[in-house]
Amino acid sequence: MILGDIVDHNARCLRDRPAFLFEGRAVTHGEFGQRVRRLGNALLALGLERGDRIAILAQNCPEYMELYCVAGMCGFIAVGMNYRLSAADQAAILRDCAPALLVYDQEYEDRVRELRTALPAHARTMKLGGDAGEAGYEAAIARADAAPPPLRARDDDTAFLIYTSGTTGAAKGVMLGNAGQVEQARMLALSHGAQPTDRMLIVMPAYHIGGTTELLSYLACGATIVLHRRFDAREILESMARHRVTAAHFAPIMIQALLDEQERQAVDLSSLQTVCYASAPMSVALSRRAHRALGRIFMQVYGMTEHGPGTALLKHQHEPEGDSAQAARMASAGQPIPGVAIRIVDEQGRELEQGRIGEIAMRSAAIMQGYWGKPAETAAALDGGWMKTGDLGYFDEDHYLFIVDRKKDMIISGGENIYSREVEEALLLHPAVLEAAVIGVPDEKWGESVKAFVALKAGGQTDERALIEHCRQWLASYKKPRSIEFMAALPRLPSTNKIDKKALRAPYWANKARQVA
Ligand code: ATP
Ligand code: MG
Repeated sequence: MILGDIVDHNARCLRDRPAFLFEGRAVTHGEFGQRVRRLGNALLALGLERGDRIAILAQNCPEYMELYCVAGMCGFIAVGMNYRLSAADQAAILRDCAPALLVYDQEYEDRVRELRTALPAHARTMKLGGDAGEAGYEAAIARADAAPPPLRARDDDTAFLIYTSGTTGAAKGVMLGNAGQVEQARMLALSHGAQPTDRMLIVMPAYHIGGTTELLSYLACGATIVLHRRFDAREILESMARHRVTAAHFAPIMIQALLDEQERQAVDLSSLQTVCYASAPMSVALSRRAHRALGRIFMQVYGMTEHGPGTALLKHQHEPEGDSAQAARMASAGQPIPGVAIRIVDEQGRELEQGRIGEIAMRSAAIMQGYWGKPAETAAALDGGWMKTGDLGYFDEDHYLFIVDRKKDMIISGGENIYSREVEEALLLHPAVLEAAVIGVPDEKWGESVKAFVALKAGGQTDERALIEHCRQWLASYKKPRSIEFMAALPRLPSTNKIDKKALRAPYWANKARQVA
């Protein structure tokens, strides 16, 4: 089954039900299906062929999803571009994927002019909306026929090229196959208990896998997507109350803002059944706070661009204040979702026994087809049918997955492995600490030593010596930070808001090569 089949199915079976609620308008599944078919015919008339890339530079909107779905119907490849990146980074992506078409939002018109030279000579551009005249997106759709487009995607066609967040290096284009994404969207919907009656709020940007994944899985079961262009805590809370939203998906940093805002001025969230978060670890302290505020409906998804939909899911049905084994599980990433096999492997790819820490590897219908134009990186990641994730973790005796760190973030000091996340967790347990990031810096004697960067809460009082002392309560002595630098706020990646450890590390490693595990 391909994504186009889902669009057709919804258009026929759920014709008059809303597929999208967006900025005061509703798009039914019937209208959506018809517009995707028209768009397919319009793009074929422009000369697009199977496998051609369509780059999209826009914020979340239903048209974005039309472009994703037309790729999944006709066999084009949709490339969602991060609009927060610099022109240079966007140009690098365009040079990498060489699209035949760039579709953009009005507000990026100047940027697109700058990017023109990064596009192949034959590439076209198309502006979203109705005011672009004959050459615009709406005119193209209006002109085209609503019959099924003559080009139909195949199961193993690449449907999306999504660039990774670039947390550990340059962003890589991940090729995600059509049928694999459909299969896993359905598996994820099943594990979420998604229903056609659900109203799923999506504010995660569509260019990021987190937004796409949840959106596809709820679309796959015919639910309504309450779509937001951008994150504003008050607006999102009000939208959840107004539309009686039943499910929502956020990044951890958004959850923190929502909880703060809800404390300031509460809205009625009684319709909510499922709140998920993904894409970065969340501190146990924040996880507990969210659990208290949102109750048993809280879920964590562990996922990555290379796997499309989520890979492991933690349903917080465990009382955090309950017995200690259950409380400890709050810090896990949950169990693999059905359809995803996960194992922990050593450097040679051999499976390690339960409880041992190693690299997390996985296999499923949804793992990437490879990195676009990067055969060596693809071969290294897709080793013997199992995809290596670059994350380190272990399973507990009930097959709950604990992510301990990224391989590239682990610090090796005096031959001991120190997981930066464990040190960060200890720092975050201090009441004055708002954010913490821990890196390894060069050390003559130990190879690397532990350095922390900390941002304090407003009015939070502590100092380097007291914080290091605090860490000693929670950590073995060799793991405690040797030095702590205080910052007003930690640097974050424009793409996902993840803490940018590359930037923190750069001044220390300017002239040195860092050994990573
Ligand atoms: P790059 O691959 O370019 O360095 P990235 O890995 O941050 O960037 P993404 O694919 O957006 O790019 O992020 C996936 C990674 O995010 C995972 O490999 C993992 O390290 C982290 N992650 C995702 N979900 C979770 C989670 N629930 N808990 C902990 N870490 C998570
Ligand atoms: Mg990655």
